[in-house]
Amino acid sequence: MSAQFPSYRGTMKYRCLSCSSTYGIDSLLYTCPECKSVLMLEDTNFSSLRARSGREWRELFDARAASKRTALRGIFRFYELMAPVVEEQDIVYLGEGNTPVVEASPALQAKVGARFAFKNDGQNPSASFKDRGMACAFSYLRALVRLQGWDDVLTVCASTGDTSAAAALYASYVGAPVKSVVLLPHGKVTPQQLAQPLGSGATVLELPGVFDDCMKVVEFLADHYRVALLNSKNSWRILGQESYPFEVAQWYDWNMENMCIFVPVGNAGNITAMMNGFLKLHYLGIIETLPRLFGVQSHHADPVYRYYAAPEATREYAPVKVQPSVAQAAMIGNPVSFPRVQHLVDRYKAIGGERSFQVIQVTEQAIMDAMLEANRHGHIACTQGGECLAGLQGAKALGLVDESEFSVLDSTAHALKFMDFQNKYFTNSLDAAFGVTPKKELQNAPELLLTEAESATLGESGFVLESCRRIAERLQLSEK
Ligand SMILES: *Cc1c(COP(=O)(O)O)cnc(C)c1O
Ligand SMILES: [Zn+2]
Repeated sequence: MSAQFPSYRGTMKYRCLSCSSTYGIDSLLYTCPECKSVLMLEDTNFSSLRARSGREWRELFDARAASKRTALRGIFRFYELMAPVVEEQDIVYLGEGNTPVVEASPALQAKVGARFAFKNDGQNPSASFKDRGMACAFSYLRALVRLQGWDDVLTVCASTGDTSAAAALYASYVGAPVKSVVLLPHGKVTPQQLAQPLGSGATVLELPGVFDDCMKVVEFLADHYRVALLNSKNSWRILGQESYPFEVAQWYDWNMENMCIFVPVGNAGNITAMMNGFLKLHYLGIIETLPRLFGVQSHHADPVYRYYAAPEATREYAPVKVQPSVAQAAMIGNPVSFPRVQHLVDRYKAIGGERSFQVIQVTEQAIMDAMLEANRHGHIACTQGGECLAGLQGAKALGLVDESEFSVLDSTAHALKFMDFQNKYFTNSLDAAFGVTPKKELQNAPELLLTEAESATLGESGFVLESCRRIAERLQLSEK
């Protein structure tokens, strides 16, 4: 039996985090028209949801987890906490969300000296967590198109690779009148990430520079032309990404005691969603404690780390000029969502305590080594997943996590998207600017046993015999 579609409808508004002005949602807004600060979406009826007890919410969401109703199978399982203004017919579902939490192999946990699991967000349809936000943004866009009779919608985004892959995928599914354009920093996305929007039929435009440069262009575009911006300035994406903390809490039976969450920080949209999501669950009594949240940044792109590492009295935000990072999807020097982080950290710490939010800095070397180590133990971590593991190792070394705690690491994309970095590590051909020296024991390479020319002289039975002889020799097999 299909669960009922929820009857609750919220009243959603954009709220400016700087001047607190609110704006209706009947048009697409990315920044405050008054003061240009970033916005967040809120349901002004949210407190009415407290009429249901935490226990009733838990039971409802648990029951819904079995639903075969398409609109409720993905991130909208948590409809009331998500975007409760979208009608069922507008919800886009491409299989996103509900990604597996895979406990780290016993050998890896022993090696790291900590208890932890990966949540494989690379098992989303376009192979990164960005699909969560896109599912929400496109559902809302579909509603707008339907209600306002728009006949031409051009969606644009700048990307470190995964946003464009997700945007192009959802746009191609939704189809007319929605068309997708993506803007990429030339040569700064992996071949797999470039192939994705091309395959989805998006218009792919490239500019020299890094992500931060493309972002400036896209922002100017969105201010001056009729386009729908799909970067995380688009607050609907943040909402969709809140499904990650909801799923983590649900998976652990809504008990977040002694839990640590590790998340890579690039544009800081994801960590914003983590905080906001867990705060919502806590406010409604669905969870009783907030998990401890660890943002992780590479020393080559660490503006958020630098800010929080400074003593509170002297903290001043400054963008950094990024250096090449293998955690390329998080290689951002001026995170768009930084004001959102600042805004939420105070609320998060007020409830969870001083130790409930921290930012860890890791080296490029540690990121690569951690990714490869994880994947040699049966995982499918991307470089950003490796960054999370390096973050856990770093936090442990600093004495910030203890034996009684369990960590969930966000492997934000699929390993296959970042194979270029693995290949370059294996062949020691990473540019010196990354500052990574491959460890022999983590390298691997195919071994050619027979050349074409040798093979040509052997004939069919000779080929099998000679191949087996060389394999037996290579592996030192004993005859039976
Ligand atoms: C976008 C992205 C990040 C960074 O997330 P933010 O929300 O920008 O902080 C990390 N990992 C992957 C794989 C990504 O695609
Ligand atoms: Zn404002």
